[in-house]
Formats: sequence, structure tokens, C-alpha cells
Amino acid sequence: MNLSDTIVAVSSPAGAGERAVLRLSGRRAVEIAGRVFTPGRLQEAPTYTAWSGSLEPPGSGLAVPATLYMMRAPRSYTREDVVEFHVGAWPAVVPLLVEGLIRAGARAAEPGEFTMRALLSGRLDLAQAEAVMAVVEATTASALRAAGDLLRGHLSREVSRVADAIRDLLVLVEADLDFSDHAIEAAPPDQIASRIADARAALADLGRHSRGLETFGGQVRLVIAGRPNEGKSSLFNRLLAEDRAIVSPEAGTTRDELQAALHVGGLRFILSDTAGFDDACPERGRMASDELTGKALSKATAAIGRADLVLLAMDATASSYDRTAEIVDLVTAPMIVVATKCDLVSPDRVAQWLAARGVEADLVATSAATGAGVADLRQALVRAVDSGEVDRDSAGPVLAARHRTALEQAVVALARAGRVARRGCEAGELVAVELRESLDALSVIIGRKADADVLGSIFGRFCIGK
Ligand code: GDP
Repeated sequence: MNLSDTIVAVSSPAGAGERAVLRLSGRRAVEIAGRVFTPGRLQEAPTYTAWSGSLEPPGSGLAVPATLYMMRAPRSYTREDVVEFHVGAWPAVVPLLVEGLIRAGARAAEPGEFTMRALLSGRLDLAQAEAVMAVVEATTASALRAAGDLLRGHLSREVSRVADAIRDLLVLVEADLDFSDHAIEAAPPDQIASRIADARAALADLGRHSRGLETFGGQVRLVIAGRPNEGKSSLFNRLLAEDRAIVSPEAGTTRDELQAALHVGGLRFILSDTAGFDDACPERGRMASDELTGKALSKATAAIGRADLVLLAMDATASSYDRTAEIVDLVTAPMIVVATKCDLVSPDRVAQWLAARGVEADLVATSAATGAGVADLRQALVRAVDSGEVDRDSAGPVLAARHRTALEQAVVALARAGRVARRGCEAGELVAVELRESLDALSVIIGRKADADVLGSIFGRFCIGK
């Protein structure tokens, strides 16, 4: 794709409509428009003006009444010269006009190429470019509002603010490294650690209060998380009322992520059961005891990152919840705590632990053995979605699934940075590595560092003309 070409495409939706919009963008847009439009003489036409005339591509034999809109660089969608022709949407004529514009020197645009140019010129960031697609695909008013939120840059602004703070921190940490021979400390380790914790909390909050773009399509990704043996698989089966997951008294049986559709109160949830987190959790810097466990655990971390709503399973009979705190830290989506095995004991200890940790989440007591509390849990799911906590009316930004994964990676990198920072100045190099990793993850959202695969997958879904 040569970005110095001037491109043309029909940018109004395919199918019946009253008007069709032919859009030219690029250095030669005004010149090419002048060749096909009567009256010509567009070189002097100021930006943001409209002209009535007719489109008469040489050799086409056509003379089609058209209104021309002039949008000169840089104040246009692509920041290039853009000329639009609005014509009647005659299905047989419009393709001939496009051909005429190509003969006059334009190239047919690739899918999403206008938006790709807007991205590359810095007019839009990646999250906004994706929002353009979501706006086009939106079939409901709430989906359109959500895409509009992304397009206006709500997410990008919030993420940029935290990224700036991390960049400032990185400067401090690197200054410490540069001056380490001089016994000058740019910032005490405690202060660095607490600022890292602030950045981590800000990102986790952003995720927790955000709405998944995909939930506007009517699906909520619901992930059951928790440590091994907390009763996750049993809960999964009870919720689905079918025997899909392997339930076993041995810790760590759920190796893979199991998924199933769950319909409650007119809502569609995609329910996943993930492997439990144990000592081998890779995000905690320890090595997995065997490779299979390691893979399953990173899958679980990723699933939590993609969740729109998390069910945190906590065994009401357990003697300690120390390691549950680490899972809570990873959760960026809204969360419901499910006390499991309540046929054996009351959920009091779970409730006390949550209160002591200041975790604000609905608590539902269940028993997979008797089915008690499962109806309450189903109601809590509907409540979470209806209250807008999961989507729609929340004040938080809208996230696409890819953004949530990136946010999660940044949170995890900052969690590691915080742990090494507390070790003091000799760990500076490691802190810097983790801070850079978190910035890399965030730049995937704000699009300062998107790789070809990401661009390909986003723009590959675009239609031509956008
Ligand atoms: P996971 O590792 O978190 O998926 O846990 P499982 O669902 O495999 O359950 C672990 C153990 O707890 C199994 O022996 C289950 O039979 C038992 N268990 C799970 N839920 C309940 C429950 O509600 N009541 C009782 N009494 N036992 C349960």
C-alpha cells in the first residue's frame, strides 16, 4: 500500500440510499477533482466550501449532477487534501464514476485506508481508529454510544495520563542509575514504590470501571477465577446445570480454559472456568513447576484480563485467603465474590476477609453440592449488567478486548516493578525494565507502537471507503 498515492472510494454505505459519497484523499486530490468536475478551477477553492456542478470523468460519457466538498490539509479526516463528491446513489452509475476517478489518476483505496492514513498522520490514535469500525458496525443505540465514547478519546486520554506518570517515574529511576556512583539518590525507593503502586491502581481502576465494547453486542464475558480447589469447576457446572468440566478432589485439575454460553434474564454470558492460581503463578515472578501448569496459568491470567465480569470463587471452609489477595489485584473488571461450599460452613469468614481488605464487591453464598444460592448468583449477574456496572451507563471508558489485555499486561508489569522497587536502589535496572514493559503495553492502546499484526487485524476488518 503506497501512502503517497491519492486514493478514491465510495465512503457511503453500500446498498440503497439517496446519496452516495465518493471520497478522494491525498496530495493530488484537488488536481484530480479539477479534471473530472465542471466547472473546474479548484486550485483556488478555499477549504470547507461546497460547490455545485457535475461530475464528468473524461471518456466516460457521463455528466452527473454533484456537490463537491473541499477539505484541505491538515484540517481533514486524513490530514491530507480531501475532496468529496455527493451524488445520487444510482447503483449502475456510481462504480463508473469511481472508475473515471481512477482513470484521472487516483488509486482505489484499500479497506480502512482512509482511517489508516488518519492514524499515521496522528489525527487519530489506534483506539480511535478501532472505534471508527465499531461506529460503522454498531446496530444498536447503546453500541453506537459506546463506539462514540472510544472515538472521542475517553480511553486514550485516561491511558495517556497514566503513561505520562510512568514515563516521569522512569526518568527518575534512570537518573538514579546514571548517578549511582555518586551516592546521589534522585528518589527514595519507598517513594518510587508508592508512585508505581498509584499508577498500577489507576490502571486497575480504569479497567474495573470500564465497559467492554463487545458487551454492547449483547455478550458478557464472565470468568470464574480463584485458587485451586475453591470449587470453580463445580460452580461452572452448577451454573450451566450440565456436567462439562471435570470435577475432582485433586488440586489443579482444571488445566485449560473451558467455555460455555450461559443465558440468564435475557442476557448472554460467555462463561469461562480458568485454572486456579497457585504458587507457580508466573505473574508473581516464580517459575512454574511444570510447563503445562505454567501455560494454563498464563491462560487464566489472560482470561481474567479479558473478562467483562469476574466471579471470584472463595472456599468458605478455607483456613486462609492470603493468596486470594494476589488474584484480586489482577482483576480489572467488575467482580462478584462467590463463597463456595456453604453447605458445610457459613460464608462469614469470607465476608470478614473482604471487609478487612476493603474489597467492595457483592458476596453471594453458594453450594454447588445442594444448589443453594445459585439462583441468587444468577440474579446478581443480571443486576451487575443492569446496574450499568458491567457496561452501558458506567462513567468509565469503553474498552475493546484488545485494550483490556494490554491494560492487564501493564498492571502485571507494574505489580512486578513495585515488588522489585521495594528492594532498593540496586534493583533500579529491573524496575526500569518493568516500567518500560508497562509503557509498551499501554502504547498498544494509544497506538504509538502498534506492530504490523495488530494493524493488519484491525484494518483487515474495515470496509473499503472508511
Ligand atoms: P476447582 O479446582 O476450583 O475447580 O474446584 P472443584 O470444583 O474441582 O472442587 C474442589 C473440591 O471441592 C471437589 O472435591 C468438590 O467436590 C468440592 N466442592 C466443590 N463445591 C462444593 C460444594 O458446594 N460443597 C461441597 N461440600 N464440596 C464442594
